[in-house]
Amino acid sequence: MLSYRHSFHAGNHADVLKHTVQALIVESLKRKDKAFMIHDTHSGAGRYDLQSEHAEKTGEYVDGIARIWGEDCPKAMHPYLKVVKELNPSGNLRYYPGSPLVSGSLLREQDRMVLTELHPSDFPRLRQEFRGRRQVKLYQEDGYQRLKASLPPKERRGVVLIDPPYELKNEYKDLVKGVKEAVKRWATGTYAIWYPVVRRQEITTLERALERTGIRNILQIELNVEDDNMDWGMTGSGMIVINPPWTLEEQMQELLPWLTPKLAQSEQANFRLRWIVPE
Ligand code: SAM
Repeated sequence: MLSYRHSFHAGNHADVLKHTVQALIVESLKRKDKAFMIHDTHSGAGRYDLQSEHAEKTGEYVDGIARIWGEDCPKAMHPYLKVVKELNPSGNLRYYPGSPLVSGSLLREQDRMVLTELHPSDFPRLRQEFRGRRQVKLYQEDGYQRLKASLPPKERRGVVLIDPPYELKNEYKDLVKGVKEAVKRWATGTYAIWYPVVRRQEITTLERALERTGIRNILQIELNVEDDNMDWGMTGSGMIVINPPWTLEEQMQELLPWLTPKLAQSEQANFRLRWIVPE
């Protein structure tokens, strides 16, 4: 059952955090000329129209990208904002890039990207977005299965983005299993895992499950727009990054104190930056 559609949520506070971190990881890979690979396991549609019926219905982007659009943002946000600006050359915020477009516009000629997406409506839109880009391969397949089949990448450098909808009960377990299998095949890759903060207990369980895998070098970046509150829906979100670029922690130390009040929805807004497991 695939009921989740990212078009209802595109550009919200969680996307701002996720895509900022993603863009910084891709930029760090570009410090060396050697090619790298990106695998986006849960790609979504690629591009979102913020004036569409779905986006207008929830208006989530209003408390996300719209809050920082046109602002003088810290340097750590520049790679991400450059992509959003490219999609909106007139300066009016209308289109929002999903994770495949964020990576796609930062990729160099020598780099490669693999995209998996299962949804029968979103997959054709994603394929259309990348028509003619030979460095991008798309599969309407389960993200974890395709990941397993394609690791380790021949480039030996790169990042895997894992951004499930977390609508089904077993998704946290599938995530840990998928990550464990992937790291067994490719231990030196970077893995960036997004999660929503809805019920705190689920996140604590996820952190402990990751600790138990024996994987090391796991950084957690979390931004809560409101204090934990089970009656509120998503109060925050985070990125768990395995083998992060060495600059990422410092970039987040500088960025989060600026970004958190920008995206806050109450005085209790807060952030968390810590190592779940050190190196
Ligand atoms: N990563 C996207 C972005 O940042 O723009 C958003 C992805 S959205 C949160 C999750 C997507 O995963 C949905 O489009 C859903 O259809 C897709 N999906 C769900 N289960 C999947 C699976 N097993 N394999 C691949 N895609 C899946």
